[in-house]
Amino acid sequence: MHAEIIAIGDELTSGERLDTNTQWLSQRLGELGIRTLYHSTVGDDLAANVRVFREALDRSDIIVCTGGLGPTADDLTRQGIADAIGVELELDEESLARIRSMFARRKREMPERNTIQAMFPVGSRAILNPHGTAPGIDIRHERTGRAPCRLFALPGVPAEMREMWEQTVSPALQVMTGGRRVIRHFQIKCFGVGESDLEQMLPDVIARGRQPSVGITVHKATITLRITAEAENAAACIEAMQPTIATIRDCLGTLIFGEENEELQHAVVKLLRARSQTLATLEWGSGGLLADWLSEADSSSEVFRGGIVVRTAASLAATIGERELGGVAIEEHKVIGRLASHARQQFGTDFGLALGAFPSDRATDDDPGEVHFAIATRDEVCSKSVPFSGHPDILKERATKQALNFLRLLLPPSV
Ligand code: AMP
Ligand code: MG
Repeated sequence: MHAEIIAIGDELTSGERLDTNTQWLSQRLGELGIRTLYHSTVGDDLAANVRVFREALDRSDIIVCTGGLGPTADDLTRQGIADAIGVELELDEESLARIRSMFARRKREMPERNTIQAMFPVGSRAILNPHGTAPGIDIRHERTGRAPCRLFALPGVPAEMREMWEQTVSPALQVMTGGRRVIRHFQIKCFGVGESDLEQMLPDVIARGRQPSVGITVHKATITLRITAEAENAAACIEAMQPTIATIRDCLGTLIFGEENEELQHAVVKLLRARSQTLATLEWGSGGLLADWLSEADSSSEVFRGGIVVRTAASLAATIGERELGGVAIEEHKVIGRLASHARQQFGTDFGLALGAFPSDRATDDDPGEVHFAIATRDEVCSKSVPFSGHPDILKERATKQALNFLRLLLPPSV
């Protein structure tokens, strides 16, 4: 049994609005153990809608569609479903009364056009919409020689769609599937090696068809291992994942910095908070990204006490005082440690983290140049340089992550 999601609206096919409903619905269907095999998107055109519905009714067992249930002329979903199935639309008095009372509560007269929202394909049922005028549609389409197809139509407004999913559609699907299988995911986050190197460190868990399955994705140099288990309930899924999680932890060690939605800045803030220690930053190439991420991860400002952003050698010299640079032309790898110390002293913190300039000017593919990092504590300063190569879209985030990772690895977990 597999599902199809149909997103309806010109604003989607024109690219004006991103179709977030389909993503959300696919995830929810997955959690119920239902595989989504098709995503269809169609504009506000009746003939096109009828075609898409006909195809879906034939090839899929469950259809969830969103959009096109409003009262205006471009809202064609009701008619599209009725035409595809070959039935008429009829008025549902109960839905009409509900729409009228919704307008009355808002102290408005119901425009005549809204009557259309109480029209339903013959044989369907209304899905209650507690916070909007458009009820949804639930219809079963009989197919000769095989199980019927069940179609749910929900409004496009994401908040209304989600509420109706939770209250009505999800419970109905659980009855259909006998609530027998659920799917759960768990994410392990890694940083510090390339995707293929990491894959080689995990020889037997990546294999296709393995249960639980493990998938690898990379986003801006952060590698996510997504473990997926299917079982009769959530607790059984979580239990089934444990040996795989343990194997991955053994194989990858400190390459792993977090789980689920954690990022490196959360890991760093967590480690510092556990040790009651504080941090300040001085950054150049990253233009404030380091401070931005740390502020977001440490909303209570317990750990991250302040950051300095410089953009030129002159502003750097002015910030830290000409004399501190010894009056020499800045050879960054030689001064980066002093920048970290300056940040630490300026804000009176346990650690100072410095991220140097990006070598954009003279860099070539053969000689990409380097970015320099340094960490200062009361007693010592250590620094590190890494090549600044790769796709331009990820360089800034990756360098910022490298700075955070450098600090993370210097902080052994407190006991
Ligand atoms: P509709 O139900 O077609 O009248 O859409 C109502 C509102 O929901 C509009 O603002 C749409 O842009 C929005 N909307 C419709 N479909 C989607 C979708 N698939 N993802 C996100 N928003 C949507
Ligand atoms: Mg629409």
